[in-house]
Amino acid sequence: MNITAIYPGTFDPITHGHTDIVRRASRLFQRVVVAVAESPAKEPAFALAQRVDLAQQALADLPNVEVRGFDVLLASFAREQGAGVILRGLRAVSDFEHEFQLAAMNRQLSPEVETMFLTPAEEYGYVSSSLVREIARLGGDVSNFVSPAVLHALVNRYLDA
Ligand code: ADP
Repeated sequence: MNITAIYPGTFDPITHGHTDIVRRASRLFQRVVVAVAESPAKEPAFALAQRVDLAQQALADLPNVEVRGFDVLLASFAREQGAGVILRGLRAVSDFEHEFQLAAMNRQLSPEVETMFLTPAEEYGYVSSSLVREIARLGGDVSNFVSPAVLHALVNRYLDA
């Protein structure tokens, strides 16, 4: 079946947990669109263009994966991209309640699109962008969790902060 999956998130910044999910999805779907949300309410540490750029670099080896920024309703963007599936990652039970609510809301808004969940390799089950940012800010080593380009961006971001 020719299905495009859309993987939305803030990716502030992209971690090995995210790329693990995208790698798995790229084997299952014809096309995967990584949709980087502007998310102004979250006050991201990195600007949208930089989050897109870092995701592009981290996923450059996957030919059927595209990275796009968006600042509209996800249901609208999914339709615009011709996506039949919204993909989300589930790390732990604690993710479930929020994800279940999002999936139900997106089904209301876009009944033709199915939400599907993938789980990452267990070594990434505890990785989150917010923890990575916090560790980097305090000078800790996050090189096991992010790509070299992201590591570089984090060092620059928090160097003089
Ligand atoms: P959001 O800000 O919408 O939660 P994120 O950028 O944090 O978006 O994450 C996007 C998606 O990736 C979400 O489904 C989230 O649960 C998932 N995710 C985040 N970190 C990981 C990880 N380490 N392993 C698997 N999935 C993850």
